[in-house]
Amino acid sequence: MKISPDIQSLIPYAPGKPIEETRRELGLTQVYKLASNENPIGASPKAIAAMQAELVNVHRYPDPSSYELRQFLSKKWSLPAQNILIGNGSNELIDLLVRVYCEPGDQVIVPDKSFIAYSICSQAARVKVLRTPVDAHLKIDVSALVKNLKSVEFSGAKLLFLANPNNPTGTYLNQKDFEDILAVVGGRDDILVVVDEAYNEFVRAKDYPDTVSYFDRYKNMLVLRTFSKVYGLAGLRVGALIAGDPQWLDWIHRVRMPFNVNSLVQKAVIASMEDAEYLKKSQDVVWKGLDYFYHELSQMGVPFIPSQANFILLDTRRDATEVFQDCLRQGVILRSVKEYGLPTHLRMSVGLEEENKWAIRALSQSLLEVRR
Ligand SMILES: *Cc1c(COP(=O)(O)O)cnc(C)c1O
Repeated sequence: MKISPDIQSLIPYAPGKPIEETRRELGLTQVYKLASNENPIGASPKAIAAMQAELVNVHRYPDPSSYELRQFLSKKWSLPAQNILIGNGSNELIDLLVRVYCEPGDQVIVPDKSFIAYSICSQAARVKVLRTPVDAHLKIDVSALVKNLKSVEFSGAKLLFLANPNNPTGTYLNQKDFEDILAVVGGRDDILVVVDEAYNEFVRAKDYPDTVSYFDRYKNMLVLRTFSKVYGLAGLRVGALIAGDPQWLDWIHRVRMPFNVNSLVQKAVIASMEDAEYLKKSQDVVWKGLDYFYHELSQMGVPFIPSQANFILLDTRRDATEVFQDCLRQGVILRSVKEYGLPTHLRMSVGLEEENKWAIRALSQSLLEVRR
């Protein structure tokens, strides 16, 4: 059979290396994983209890509309429940956006050094990715993006993906950046602006935009949220898509799998979000950990990008694969970002205090061992 060239050239998503695999391969007892931006404190005990209570119902199909969860989120986010669609992780929702809104040969816009799932899902759907550049600090070059958006080459694009804050850089678009972009594409009916807010609970910047508040003015906006990060439910796969206009979601409902969100996680999200103490603790761990990384990396003379998320991108100024391997031998799993065209950088998630210390120790040891 002839396999499509788009599939043949598709570079699969490279997930963070699992702890067990690392233990097995390297014969290590203690392994710290700071590779996938997971919540290091574990899930909320209230979420676990809610799932345990729900276990007696697992012989039934889940609620295909996630009714109770959407009602809950509707109150939390002050939006009608029909403007919220739940997915099997935001990754599924990204895939659905491309499949529903694009046809083979169509185009989407993805800024350089931005979450790779946008490109993978697009290529899988035979959709072409148009890139816009980043500046010297690896932040989206907003004026270049604005210029591109006004150009003929970009005029037919169906989707514009904006991760805010961005993974893997930790950079963010502030209110002014965001308004400059919306001034060009906001309100158009031939392109959708998809703002991926996977890390919004970690943002400390005061000028971070409240994206949903723009829904009144611009109907062509969608926001992605996930419960994998601050809410600690990565293993259960659940994310949300919020639309200014519910019509955008109706098209997706036609295509999505009817039982895409399992019954346990529908309960877990509610319990997790009701646990205000858990949210606060999760944020505190990340903010303290980031400040610790800033301090240590500065001392070590390692360049890094200040982050609005729960990870940090640092420049080893060496072949990052070698540093990665060396840290791995010391029981610390970091994340390569080679596929983003960053061969000397590594991404490091914030872990528990102990994990962060180990990571810094391993990293500083590696930087002594691996030559520039
Ligand atoms: C982690 C992450 C997600 C979340 O993906 P899920 O499929 O919900 O686990 C979404 N977008 C970005 C930019 C991310 O880094």
